[in-house]
Amino acid sequence: MSQNIQFKDGQLIVPDQPIIPFIEGDGIGKDITEPSQRVINAAVKAAYGDSKKIVWKEVLAGKKAFELTGTYMPDETLEAFQEYLVGIKGPLETPVGDGIRSLNVALRQTLDLYVCLRPIRWFKGVPSPIRYPELVDMHIFRENTEDIYAGIEFMTGTEKAIKFRDFLINEMGVEVIRFPETSSFGVKPVSKEGSVRLIKAAIQYAIARELPSVTIVHKGNIMKFTEGAFKNWGYDLAETEFADHTFTWKQYQQIEKQLGKAEANASMEAAKASGKVIIKDCITDAFLQESLLHPFDHSVIATLNLNGDYVSDQLAAMVGGIGISPGANINYNSGYAIFEATHGTAPNIAGTGKANPGSLILSGAMLLEYLGWYKAAEHVYDAMEHTFSKRKVTSDLFSMMEGATLLSTSDFADEIIRNIH
Ligand code: NAD
Repeated sequence: MSQNIQFKDGQLIVPDQPIIPFIEGDGIGKDITEPSQRVINAAVKAAYGDSKKIVWKEVLAGKKAFELTGTYMPDETLEAFQEYLVGIKGPLETPVGDGIRSLNVALRQTLDLYVCLRPIRWFKGVPSPIRYPELVDMHIFRENTEDIYAGIEFMTGTEKAIKFRDFLINEMGVEVIRFPETSSFGVKPVSKEGSVRLIKAAIQYAIARELPSVTIVHKGNIMKFTEGAFKNWGYDLAETEFADHTFTWKQYQQIEKQLGKAEANASMEAAKASGKVIIKDCITDAFLQESLLHPFDHSVIATLNLNGDYVSDQLAAMVGGIGISPGANINYNSGYAIFEATHGTAPNIAGTGKANPGSLILSGAMLLEYLGWYKAAEHVYDAMEHTFSKRKVTSDLFSMMEGATLLSTSDFADEIIRNIH
């Protein structure tokens, strides 16, 4: 019998037939949703026979919702995600016009989904611009609710911008606004709570999956009280709450200062050997280079909103692009989670059968992992890899692969299902 997922004492309680709300999405959303669900259903069946099953429940958002209900995000949709806790969505077009909020932002804010999680791994056979894509296994934890993306902006010339500028100059003694008469302004809130809950989720994820490190990626060299504080709060958290499970770069430096490099190296090696997660940090611009040159040096990445936006797309491009890059927005304190295709609505190919359903399928696999249905998720990963290694792909990858077979969206999903053993 189908049932709701519950969240008690920090744990998800998942019935054998959980109801999972889904938003089909705009543009290629219609093309990729049904094939993706077929793959997920087949993987669950292969793993658990008839003893477990996902009960898909469509909820409306975007253009389809507007056509059927006159609103882009009906209250029932938000309520469904609250009631059922875990859901999945296709891409949604951001409607153009004043006063209309991005639908994705509305979902994120209502459910306070503070982690944007993007796992980045390479599947054998997928074309990559880097030399050793097989060494890429990164997991990005991007803070999803704060930073310069909070939406606190004042356009030059407006009453608010003038008031804000005068406050900065007259009350705060700011003297460095280069062109005060024509400046627009944006505010970058970064809180201790917001930073700590994000970095905590990243460290817990690394510990649970026995991953080697968490890199805090930041621009604290320039923005000391926001990005720099983010880094410091991260180190403090690791050294207090996770002292038994982590060894930090700061601790390394302290030992080096007191006892010398050899001793610090020995401590680092001992920590690694005992399975401790190494907590380090990297300046964002250096990280973008580092991740290309030495991707194997980084495992879990914890970063603020804007950095996370750039980092996510670069890393996705390293392993095959947005067509196969999954994502999730999660609140680990309430259990709420929405898994999603990370690409947009791709209006240029909607309805043509060219869309790659890989991003949504892999987001579905992430959902399975979140439910604790790891065996089913493994079936998806294995079958996907098998399909790529046989060079059977959709049009986005076809043009980059020699000797490949071109499949439509639906045929690609069928091929994956055939490869689920
Ligand atoms: P897009 O991701 O839709 O498209 C960029 C390019 O990638 C296009 O050439 C497209 O054909 C291709 N592409 C995207 N997904 C693909 C797939 N699965 N298979 C093959 N090719 C794929 O980005 P855009 O054009 O900047 O945005 C279009 C719309 O999507 C906008 O309204 C935007 O607001 C929205 N959007 C939504 C989300 C979301 O819902 N999470 C994310 C990004 C953009």
